Amino acid sequence: MSMLEVRDLGVAFGAVQPLSDVSFSVGKGETLGLVGESGSGKSLTAMSVMGLLPLIGGRITAGAVEFDGQDLTKLPEKAYRKLRGGRIGLITQNPMTSLDPLQKIGPQVDAVAVLHLRMTRAEARARTVEILGTLRIPEPALICERYPHQMSGGMKQRIVIAMALAANPAVLIADEPTTALDVTVQAQIIRLLDDLVKSRDLALVLITHDMSVVAQVCDKVVVMYAGRAVERGSVEAIFERPRHPYTQALIGCIPRGLEGTERLTGIEGTVPTVMNYPSGCPFHPRCPRAEPICAREVPAFSTGGDSAAACHFAEVGHAKPA
Ligand code: SF4
Repeated sequence: MSMLEVRDLGVAFGAVQPLSDVSFSVGKGETLGLVGESGSGKSLTAMSVMGLLPLIGGRITAGAVEFDGQDLTKLPEKAYRKLRGGRIGLITQNPMTSLDPLQKIGPQVDAVAVLHLRMTRAEARARTVEILGTLRIPEPALICERYPHQMSGGMKQRIVIAMALAANPAVLIADEPTTALDVTVQAQIIRLLDDLVKSRDLALVLITHDMSVVAQVCDKVVVMYAGRAVERGSVEAIFERPRHPYTQALIGCIPRGLEGTERLTGIEGTVPTVMNYPSGCPFHPRCPRAEPICAREVPAFSTGGDSAAACHFAEVGHAKPA
């Protein structure tokens, strides 16, 4: 059963429409990867789910965001506040945007359970120590007495994950959770999130531009480009039989070990800004397979096997990248 379902989501800032027709669902014990280059609309999708668009002047203009069967687009802000940071948790890219540098770690994590689970301070502290221990943080009771600046980047990100877990969420949205960390720590955090999904039956939306991370931990994938979902499917289908040229290009950018002499292909050009979204298929200015129809008509999704791609020529099947 889906814990979070986004259907045909559209978002506008005044007359500007940065997101259109974004759909995906994620169930308990499942990880969905939301991938694409910077500027493809991944974080805006997360903000829409979290009900944060009004803070930056945006609004949902189309579609639905359902959490556990409840349409969040109709939820008043007061009810949203209970859900946000409670049943739906958010892990951001930079831990310092979630942590107060002037407050000790313990009280910051305790506050989540006090607010969302109505625990006493003592109960919340016991829970904080237990969660920090689960996240393999050594000497958790001692860590509660430290300040964020006394901890490494990886440790700070674990504290942010602890804050997200403290309210017993059903859905976690992790927005580029490892981008600000060292490579060695990145792998630990990704493994930790994967363990949590399985041990706590969480539904995880993992936002990343790193296809190799997606291949390691995701069950399903949605590829985004210029504010649209352009391909979606099981992780096997996306990596074994990518049907959209943009997905193929992203996979072509993954380094494949040291043994080969193969060169990384890269993707020509840049992601268009929201003020310059191209007509027709948004990928056409960069697509090596573009035909005249691509600049004129937005491609509809065509389904094949366990994936669907928005490309005029997806159904004829493009070759898998070398
Ligand atoms: Fe390329 Fe055309 Fe397919 Fe868009 S619709 S991805 S431009 S072939």
